[in-house]
Amino acid sequence: MLQGRYGNDYLNRALGILTVFFAVLGMFFKYTSPVRPILSVISALFAGLMLFRMLSRDFNARRLENEKFLSWWMPFRTKLKSFFQKGPRVRKARVTPTFAERRKYKYFICPQCAQRLRVPRGKGKLRVTCTRCANKFEIKS
Ligand SMILES: [Zn+2]
Repeated sequence: MLQGRYGNDYLNRALGILTVFFAVLGMFFKYTSPVRPILSVISALFAGLMLFRMLSRDFNARRLENEKFLSWWMPFRTKLKSFFQKGPRVRKARVTPTFAERRKYKYFICPQCAQRLRVPRGKGKLRVTCTRCANKFEIKS
């Protein structure tokens, strides 16, 4: 039956996931909520788009769409992955400083990204550059 039809590809699987995602998201809202119909329309749009692509006979156009999508999605996915892999490692590094360390260093948090930083104590006002987000600010040591 699907002879001569485009069928499935990566983009269609992504559209399928979005369809389910918005349908499920709608369940978290009350029946009376105006958000619910909006979400089901979005979900239906993704489902329709997926169906349209599946049954399409224009293979070239569909392939191009898929390639465009992948060239955007793949780098994004890599970034996303490395972000989540970095998470626990950063947390692991956040060991509570010992008493001796606390006496030697002043600990503080970057006002922009909440990265924990330290400076040697007793050096007066210091200009600090955050190691994570490169935010510059002054601190009394
Ligand atoms: Zn920062």
